[in-house]
Amino acid sequence: MLDLRINGDRLWNTIMMIGRVGKEDGGVSRLALNDADGEARDLFTGWLKEEGLDIRVDQIGNIFGVRKGIDPQLKPVMMGSHLDTVKMAGLFDGALGVISGLEVIRFLNQNGVETRRPLVVAAFTNEEGARFQPDMMGSMVYTGKLDVDEAWSATDDDGVTVRDELNRLGYLGKDEVEAGCYLELHVEQGPVLHMEGTEIGVVDGVQGMAWWDGYYMGESNHAGTTPLNLRRDALLGAADLCVSLREVAKNLGRASVATMGRLHPQPDVRNVIPGGAYFTLDFRQYEDALYEEGQRTVSNLVEEVASKHGLEKSLTQTVDAKPVRFDSMMVDLVERKAAELQLSYKRMHSGAGHDAQFMSYICPTAMIFVPSIDGRSHCPEERTTKTACINGANVLLNCVVKLSNDQSF
Ligand SMILES: [Zn+2]
Repeated sequence: MLDLRINGDRLWNTIMMIGRVGKEDGGVSRLALNDADGEARDLFTGWLKEEGLDIRVDQIGNIFGVRKGIDPQLKPVMMGSHLDTVKMAGLFDGALGVISGLEVIRFLNQNGVETRRPLVVAAFTNEEGARFQPDMMGSMVYTGKLDVDEAWSATDDDGVTVRDELNRLGYLGKDEVEAGCYLELHVEQGPVLHMEGTEIGVVDGVQGMAWWDGYYMGESNHAGTTPLNLRRDALLGAADLCVSLREVAKNLGRASVATMGRLHPQPDVRNVIPGGAYFTLDFRQYEDALYEEGQRTVSNLVEEVASKHGLEKSLTQTVDAKPVRFDSMMVDLVERKAAELQLSYKRMHSGAGHDAQFMSYICPTAMIFVPSIDGRSHCPEERTTKTACINGANVLLNCVVKLSNDQSF
C-alpha cells in the first residue's frame, strides 16, 4: 500500500516562496486585496494550474482549485485556509493550510492516486479583517452568513471598496463551488501544544466571541481647579472597567478571557479631565451557558462601573459569534489519523476565529493544529518548525484520502 506521506521539502519550500510575497522590514504584510495579496493569489493559482486543477473564483474572490473525482455526483472534500495576513505578520498563519492543501494535490498527482470525490483547495478572501471588516469575509459570504453586496461595499481607511480591489486584481468571479466537508490545517497561534510538546491539536470547536463598542460620558473640566470629589472622569471609569473586567473573567473561570483592546479618552488633552472615553470589549468562552452568562455579566459591569463614577454610558454589541462545535465524525477522523501516524495529539478548541467556523454551518468540518513556537502569532516572530508543518500536512493528507472515498455524507 502507498505510504501516505507528503513531500516535506516541497511543502516547506513552497511555504517559504509564498512567504517572500509582501515581506518588508522582516514581516509579511499581505493585507487583503493589496498588491502583495494579489501577487500571492497569482502565484497560488499558477501552482494550481500546473497541477491541472480547474480554477474557480467566486463573487467575493475566494479561489478554488478543483481536482476531478471518479464519481462526479459526490460532493467534494474541501481543504484550505487564507493567504491574506495582518500587518507585519509571520509566514504560517493561513499560508500553511492553503499550501498544505496544494501539497496534498501534488502528492496525489505525483503518485497517480484517484479519489472518488472531487478535491478542492480553497484560499478564502480577507480572513484577517486587517484592512476590510468584517474578518472571515470570504467564508462568511461563501456560507451565506454575509450578503455579498455588504461585503463588496466594505471600505478600507482610504475609502477603497472590496469590490474595486477584487476588480483591479482580477479576482471578481462568478463561479460556484460546492463543499461536502471541510478540513483546515492551521498553526495554533497559542502556546499550549508547544508548551506541552504535543505534535497535533485535534480541534473540536471554536470558542464563542462577543464584542462591544462602549462610550462613557462624564464632564470635561480643568485638571488644576476641579477637586477630586467633584469630577466625573470618563477615563477613570474606563480604567476601572478595564481592571474589573479581568476580575469578571477570572471569576467566571473555565478559561474565560476578557479584554479591553481600545481606549480613547476625549478630549485627549494633558490638562483636561477626560469627559469622554471610547472603549472596545472582547469576551470569549467555549461553553454555551457560560458564554451567555459572561455576556450578561460584562454588560452589567459596564453599567455598574458607570454609576459608580457618575457617568452616562452607551454600549453596543457588535459581534455575538456563538461557540462552534465541529462535526464529531470529522474530529474523530483527525484524531485517528494522528494516532495512526504515531504523532502525539490532544483535543482542544480554538481560541481564535477561523474560516472553518463558518464552513461548519454548511458541512462537516474540523481543524488540525500544529504548534506555534512560544505561542507567537500575528507578528514577524511567528514560527512553526518544518517537522510540525510536515506532521500537520500528513494528517491532512490521510484524512482527505479517507474522506474522499467515504460516501456517507
Ligand atoms: Zn489564520
